[in-house]
Amino acid sequence: MTSPRIDVDLGKIEANTRHLVDQLTPRGIRVVGITKATLGSPAVGAAMVRGGASGLGDSRIQNLARLGARDPNASRTLIRSPMLSQVDQVVRTATSSLNTGTTVLDALDAAARRQRRTHDVVLMVELGDLREGIAIEDVAAMAALTRKRGRLRLSGLGTNLACHNGVVPDDRNMGELSRLADQVESGGHGVLDVVSGGNSANLPWALSTSDVGRVNELRIGEAILLGTEPLHRTLLPGLHPDAFSLVAEVIEVAVKPAQPWGDRAQTAFGHQAAVVRQLAPTRDRTIRQAILALGCQDVDVDGLIPPPGITILGTSSDHLVVDVGDHAVSVGDELAFGLGYGALLRAMTSPFVSQVETRRPARPVLAADRWPAPIIA
Ligand SMILES: *Cc1c(COP(=O)(O)O)cnc(C)c1O
Repeated sequence: MTSPRIDVDLGKIEANTRHLVDQLTPRGIRVVGITKATLGSPAVGAAMVRGGASGLGDSRIQNLARLGARDPNASRTLIRSPMLSQVDQVVRTATSSLNTGTTVLDALDAAARRQRRTHDVVLMVELGDLREGIAIEDVAAMAALTRKRGRLRLSGLGTNLACHNGVVPDDRNMGELSRLADQVESGGHGVLDVVSGGNSANLPWALSTSDVGRVNELRIGEAILLGTEPLHRTLLPGLHPDAFSLVAEVIEVAVKPAQPWGDRAQTAFGHQAAVVRQLAPTRDRTIRQAILALGCQDVDVDGLIPPPGITILGTSSDHLVVDVGDHAVSVGDELAFGLGYGALLRAMTSPFVSQVETRRPARPVLAADRWPAPIIA
């Protein structure tokens, strides 16, 4: 098999989606599966739908087109405000989009008219994280304006916290969103289908609060894909952490001095050299070092989780240098790494990294499963 590659366990993605859907359904919350960290992988999207996701969402129109080609019936939400230059593709490709401004809404309405369609709009509200969103006091007017555009349907309100400033979803900001939903409805703007509370960072709140209020939807990527919540990057109980692993091939193994020699300045990407080497007690100490055919063109190495007993020493564009410790590793062997969110995103979007999908039912998550999962190919 070629490498580097990402092994994708679709059974675990389905199981993770199912687990969250089972927990959130009794609380009146649907799950929209977000595929953006997987380049809109149609297989991942289909696994989310099998697991009970009510629809799919992605930040890129190209990814939504890939998803739509596989399953034209699944609802597809563009979760980034549409580019003015792409409104025609947005209306053609997405069944709904998250929006924050009149210029784009007017252009979407015109595009929908040209295509003789209607387009669903969720208005995003600013609740403190200071990324996208309409100011609270402007929400009612924006809702009224959306309702007046003949080809747009106001399907609801949403918000996004945590991503930009780490603002934590809680009863206060979620209560504000519920209050705004009530306000828009009492203003005569019709019933809102969607109150979209946020992303994976909302899960600790949604699973523990005594009152979810009007929130009836979350847009979940990371927790389904990696089992983690983004606020503290802890593994959520019952979720598989290892649906994805990155496999790379060893191209050199050698016993080398632990310490480099010669005058030293910056490394390829400006980092200090790895701590392990700096702490080496003597010049004579050696390590068993392997080089993998993997680098910054393939993955964000900071988010790589090495197998137990293996330490990452450094990286450049095309080489990953590891201390293999006692592992019997030879040229041609493959090592499998776990992935954090940034590493997954970079690897899935690198043209050098292929993807191999397997689909078999996942066994239940065991208490002994830990993060990072121990994986050596
Ligand atoms: C990325 C994103 C999500 C999904 O975030 P996760 O942390 O992966 O669950 C949801 N909503 C918006 C607007 C996003 O940009």
